[in-house]
Amino acid sequence: MSARRALIAGNWKMNGLRADGLDLARALAAWLDGEGSEAAARLDMLVCPPATLVAPVASVIAGTRLTVGGQDCHAQEKGAHTGDVSAWMLKDLGCGHVIVGHSERRTDHGETDETVRAKAAAALAASLVPIICIGETEAERDAGQALAVVSRQFNGSLPEGATGTNVVIAYEPVWAIGTGRTPTTEDVAEMHQRIRADARACLGDGADALRVLYGGSVKPGNAAELMGIADVDGALVGGASLKAADFQAIASACP
Ligand code: PEP
Repeated sequence: MSARRALIAGNWKMNGLRADGLDLARALAAWLDGEGSEAAARLDMLVCPPATLVAPVASVIAGTRLTVGGQDCHAQEKGAHTGDVSAWMLKDLGCGHVIVGHSERRTDHGETDETVRAKAAAALAASLVPIICIGETEAERDAGQALAVVSRQFNGSLPEGATGTNVVIAYEPVWAIGTGRTPTTEDVAEMHQRIRADARACLGDGADALRVLYGGSVKPGNAAELMGIADVDGALVGGASLKAADFQAIASACP
């Protein structure tokens, strides 16, 4: 872990009805102000609920150290895009971040690097920090292409105007998401070093400030090891972010 302030972000995906989601958000906010205040002093904690819960979560956490973000946004500000949510709408609800290019969006909705770059650009235009997800599939890793794929995704998804502080990158190997499997610490270190080097090529010294999160089956039991790797600046957490105790344990394990 470096001098960069860690970010622990929870991606609730399509989970949570009002009562459970609000209980979870309240529990995390209370923890950051109480037992978790030591963790709160060294890291930022963010939850990204489904779109239906962004507004109520924003309202119950107002004035606390917990922050809220979206899971996706459209590339346009407004218009005839039934079912979509714009970055400006998320900003209007109190979001500070939005996840873009999650592998489930890339797979289920055919999002390409170009789509992701446009969404990330919209996020910047709306004064949101895009959390840009990149990561190789298992077949790509087995074929020895992991570094090349992630470099291509990084360069293809980074929007114009990106700096080390207005975007966050999440390295999420697709085969580790929701599977309970994680890469070796050496593999995570290698991927994060590559992303930092790619960032340096685009952003110059600004790359030193860029937060690069690891995501993929982060749990209380493996968080200390994964978060302790050089160039890992926090985590994007799916399943384990749905239980307050597990998400808090991950944050506590983050140096
Ligand atoms: C994710 O959805 O981004 C993720 C990393 O999920 P999980 O932690 O469940 O693997």
